[in-house]
Amino acid sequence: MARHTTFRFCLDPTVEQKVALARHVGAARFAYNQCLRLHLDAREHLRALIRRGAGSDAVDQARAGVPWSRFSLINALNRWKRSEDAGRRFLVTAGGVAAVEVTGLAWRGEISAEVLEEGAVDVGRGLAAWTESSSGKRTGPRVGHPRFKKKTHTHGSFRMRNRTKENWSSIRVGTGDRPRSVTLPRIGSIRVQEDTRRLRRMIATSRARILQATVTRGVRRWWISITVEAADLHPVIQHPARDSDDATGWVGVDRGLHALVVAGTRDGTETLRVQAPKTLATGLRRQRRLARAVSRKKRGSTNRRKAAARLARHHARVRDTRQHFLHQVSNQLVKTHDRLVLEDLNITGIMSNRRLARAVGDAAWGELARQITYKQQWRSGRVVVADRWFASSKTCSSCGQIKPDLTLKDRTYACDTCGLVRDRDLNAAANLAAWAENHTPAVVDGAGRGEARVGDRQAAGPDINACRRDGTGPHTRVSETSPDDAGTPVQTAPAA
Ligand SMILES: [Zn+2]
Repeated sequence: MARHTTFRFCLDPTVEQKVALARHVGAARFAYNQCLRLHLDAREHLRALIRRGAGSDAVDQARAGVPWSRFSLINALNRWKRSEDAGRRFLVTAGGVAAVEVTGLAWRGEISAEVLEEGAVDVGRGLAAWTESSSGKRTGPRVGHPRFKKKTHTHGSFRMRNRTKENWSSIRVGTGDRPRSVTLPRIGSIRVQEDTRRLRRMIATSRARILQATVTRGVRRWWISITVEAADLHPVIQHPARDSDDATGWVGVDRGLHALVVAGTRDGTETLRVQAPKTLATGLRRQRRLARAVSRKKRGSTNRRKAAARLARHHARVRDTRQHFLHQVSNQLVKTHDRLVLEDLNITGIMSNRRLARAVGDAAWGELARQITYKQQWRSGRVVVADRWFASSKTCSSCGQIKPDLTLKDRTYACDTCGLVRDRDLNAAANLAAWAENHTPAVVDGAGRGEARVGDRQAAGPDINACRRDGTGPHTRVSETSPDDAGTPVQTAPAA
């Protein structure tokens, strides 16, 4: 059990269940905001004491009382929700005598306590990221202070951890007569639209253990992402180990200007060429048109809301199409190659032109690199990233001559020294493969089981830290599962 992966299903809730789901989303936001409020109030209290010149004992006590960690935040929230601050009722007797009854948070019994606690977890995580970033302990872009979440009716999510007791677990997938369902505490059994057979089978044979579930309000539908700890992939579909002194077999993956990826070996043999789907290019035109339609409508009008919804649906569709496509490409790459070399994202970013299409391509490239990395790790393959200053495009893959005047328009690489004529992207892929053979140690560990080594820029997407959980093994982003990750055949949807 060393692999974390996520199964995502589309929910089909009843009207009552939709209300319950929306209430849980609201409760998750409320808990998050309340934890942040409790934290900020405690800090403000501490500052006030220092300003007033209070005794050191009082200051120390107040300092210790500021909840920073997830545990202290959970405790603070639990104390608060039972207190007078969270709710009280005035009882007036016939004689006109008023008495205050402390009730605490009135609706706390209707919501799973898990959901409230996860709000505290998120605040704790956000505060830790902020302090570590401010003190320089954390690398990467600067992380700001956690902010309050706004009320919304169009998106949002909540999360529940799975609780287990012997043969029972709080989150269940498919019960006897309803295989296409997910059971959540306090909400009950919700119908899902996809077949859950693979996940059920994995759970039944102890090859998967549910860790948590996240319910997300999508543009048109509700989704559930079930994160599981899964057994390693079957040895048959893992890449065989190579000899310890074997430095060959690397395949370079170039992000082309026309094709999304071109993979090639050192000697210039093309192993894979994938064109980006046309829908993504046409999607951009549609996006501009829909965005213009929104801006033309009067603010606050019903028509503007409708136009905004149309634009949001379009964005969701493009995102889904791209994600599905990237999963297919990354699967194709890791299934047929055990050693892959990627170019550094940053250098291509510098070279890229300003066209919007390239911006879309850049985002896709980062995501593709991330998927390749964890999928290759699952299959005991290896991924390396070429040196960021390595000129993979401008170097001749045959004689090594560098051609500084190569422009983005040149589709083929024609070498002036040795006379090589090769497709531009394939030339770059061959260079990457050669780079890896010259620069990478043949073995990563004694067993020859390679670990993926990918630079932070590729591996760390914009929000990868936000959903990373404690544990071992590679982590995948919530809301993703590719049906053929584990090598089982893709299930086709039933006709009905
Ligand atoms: Zn040459």
